[in-house]
Amino acid sequence: MTDGVHELSMLIGGADAILIVTGAGVSTETGIPDFRGPQGVWNTQRPVMYQDFLTSEADRVTYWNQKVLAAETIEVAKPGAVHKACVVLENAGKLEAIVTQNIDGLHTIAKSSEERVVEVHGTGREAVCLTCKGRSPIVPHLKAFTDTGVPPRCHCGGLLKPATISFGQQLDPKTMAQATQAAEACDLVIAMGTTLSVYPAAEIPLIAARRGVPYVIINQGDTEHDGMPYITLRIEAPVGPTFSQAVTQALT
Ligand SMILES: [Zn+2]
Repeated sequence: MTDGVHELSMLIGGADAILIVTGAGVSTETGIPDFRGPQGVWNTQRPVMYQDFLTSEADRVTYWNQKVLAAETIEVAKPGAVHKACVVLENAGKLEAIVTQNIDGLHTIAKSSEERVVEVHGTGREAVCLTCKGRSPIVPHLKAFTDTGVPPRCHCGGLLKPATISFGQQLDPKTMAQATQAAEACDLVIAMGTTLSVYPAAEIPLIAARRGVPYVIINQGDTEHDGMPYITLRIEAPVGPTFSQAVTQALT
């Protein structure tokens, strides 16, 4: 058994309102490449800045081409061990919220309640109209773009964009408020599969930890929060088996 699993299971057993923070490491276990990692899209392709998306049709074509490529891996991915264990925690009445940096929608596909999943970087499974803010499933727009090569537009004439946060684009204040509220309400915070280097998302667990709430980090590789005085437990191990073992132990 991995070191720290028993201690984590005790913390989970004693908590009633757990805040889970997930990053790319939770989804790489399901076959989705980490877009910041060595196989990630940002090491093989130039990211399109939000401002360029707004102003240049050529950049919109580049952007939608990248999304078509990314969608191929996201569409076939299935929820992994962490996604499933989060559902178990919720069914046991112990989940406050899941704050995720991932855009693959796997927490809701695993059947975590939508109202408890806070996608701080948005979702790649929907498109949003930048004019009327209407939302629609992404797949028909990806198909239309693949067929025509023309970046899709809304029926209102506005530009459609996947509902993810692009480089240079502000996070949604309502989403961040929801994440902050969860950090203020939780009695245990567990960050998994994230290097905690992307702010303001990485600030969320610290809001909880500064209140004296136990703070657990499970990650393979260094995180920016390592060495901070707030950390109750730091587990250096694969997230899926570690977290699911701890949840099982805590609930039996
Ligand atoms: Zn519209």
